[in-house]
Amino acid sequence: MAKSEGHNSLQFFRHELKLRALERSSIERDLQRAIEQHEFELHFQPKIDLAKGTVAGSEALLRWRHPERGFVPPWAFIPVAEHSGFVCELTHWVINEACRQIKAWREAGLPPISVAVNVSAADLVNGDLSDFVANTLVTHGVSPRQLEIEVTESMVMHDVETVIATLRRLRSMGIAISIDDFGTGYSSLAYLKRFPVKCLKIDRSFVDDLDRTSDGQAIPKLIVDLARSLGVKVVAEGVETVRQAERLIDMGCDEAQGYYFGRPMPAEDFSAYVMQAPENLKKLMPARSDAA
Ligand code: C2E
Ligand code: MG
Ligand code: MG
Ligand code: MG
Repeated sequence: MAKSEGHNSLQFFRHELKLRALERSSIERDLQRAIEQHEFELHFQPKIDLAKGTVAGSEALLRWRHPERGFVPPWAFIPVAEHSGFVCELTHWVINEACRQIKAWREAGLPPISVAVNVSAADLVNGDLSDFVANTLVTHGVSPRQLEIEVTESMVMHDVETVIATLRRLRSMGIAISIDDFGTGYSSLAYLKRFPVKCLKIDRSFVDDLDRTSDGQAIPKLIVDLARSLGVKVVAEGVETVRQAERLIDMGCDEAQGYYFGRPMPAEDFSAYVMQAPENLKKLMPARSDAA
């Protein structure tokens, strides 16, 4: 019986794999026309300066409105785009759209806000990213200080020398580079010294632990202190409660991003958020515990 169960679950597993491969190839096909059909859009999530209680910048997050499937989340199509090599085209779309939006906000009279975009390993290995960024900034008349790039630790595992060379070119143009999901990768700390990094982003999972477990402060504090001694900025991701914000302020974290301060939102909503931020953030900022 155990044997036939094993056989059945193997059959089931094969079936699943086949379904997934089919699913993947249909997403792959749809990706090709999604750009032309304007099915992608960027949403923007605020990053809050915890000392000043102001909007320090934003992160652009890609959204796909599929005509039949509806909203397709990034985890369902970015790995497919990476696998099929389409991701570089997608990244170009994201960077162009981010620059177009920065320019549109400026023309609408919004104070200058930086936009961070996420890139994949392939973007850094294939080489032309810095040229593309340089040209796109010129096209839209955007300062490199307003565009930032987020990479993950796991990218270093690819072709280290090429990745570092691309990042250095971007850095020398004035583009700030952040390490996303910091603390979840497998790479050693040695690369941090070689990386032209401006900022570490504490992964959401560690921020979650801040008000869940008694030793939850240990890793966030370690990353804040590491950032301090490296002379780089530190941003906490996925802040959902005032308590988490409080603890991050107490440990000296520079910025926070998360549902507590604002969800990723369409561009128009984001500009309204920025306009209302002086009033609204006053209510959201926790009192400093050392303020007594
Ligand atoms: P990420 O860059 O680490 O982005 C943060 C993710 O956390 C976003 O998910 C965001 O919506 C979510 N988030 C923000 N605050 C909170 C919070 O308080 N609670 C919770 N539970 N979640 C929060 P999203 O938009 O689904 O994106 C997921 C991942 O997909 C991103 O992680 C990034 O790795 C990737 N991604 C998104 N847009 C792009 C893109 O344009 N290009 C590439 N290559 N990857 C992208
Ligand atoms: Mg990111
Ligand atoms: Mg992240
Ligand atoms: Mg993440």
